[in-house]
Amino acid sequence: MSFSSLGLSEPLVRATLDQGYETPSPIQLKAIPAVLAGKDVMAAAQTGTGKTAGFVLPILQMLEQNPRTGKGPRVLILTPTRELAAQVHDSVNLYSRYVPTRAAVVFGGVKINPQMMKLRKGLDVLVATPGRLMDLYQQNAVRFNEVEFLVLDEADRMLDMGFIRDIRKILAMLPAKRQSLLFSATFSNEIRTLAKGLLNDPVQIDV
Ligand code: AMP
Repeated sequence: MSFSSLGLSEPLVRATLDQGYETPSPIQLKAIPAVLAGKDVMAAAQTGTGKTAGFVLPILQMLEQNPRTGKGPRVLILTPTRELAAQVHDSVNLYSRYVPTRAAVVFGGVKINPQMMKLRKGLDVLVATPGRLMDLYQQNAVRFNEVEFLVLDEADRMLDMGFIRDIRKILAMLPAKRQSLLFSATFSNEIRTLAKGLLNDPVQIDV
């Protein structure tokens, strides 16, 4: 099985080859076709499984298939920590080498002004931690009306870190018509409740 046989376009396959990936990992085998088919996804996956490419690659392709020129963001990726946010942002940059994409990352613990300026320029993909994203929203630095794809990465850790209120506020502001993906290492009752309210007939993936 190859990345191109999963339905990914040549520029995205080329980016995986640049990274030295030979074959898709088990989660990628399941997540990539599901996202390309427009489905919501609920995946049980630890870090190290290749989950990031599993959602970034097909989302980049969906963006490309339907270009838009608005201010964005079209994709919102929420992560629990600044380290993970930075890593996911790096992955977006790597995989989008051959498909022009405007991406940015925002997280707390650093000055907010440079982040506000970056957002003002417009972007396709925004990777964020929930608290800082809410701060930026409250300061009118970001809007959610163009969001087409939502990813909750490491959802269990986001809940453990007390982000549920921020997450719920953000979810309430997103357009109803969107594609949502939830990744979590564990599935507590709290995660299942969140998933139920968030996902529409999801493809369930367990690797
Ligand atoms: P993740 O689980 O998304 O944090 O990815 C873990 C690591 O696996 C990262 O360093 C990726 O570069 C790498 N990786 C992702 N997909 C593949 C693949 N198909 N083949 C080999 N390595 C991969």
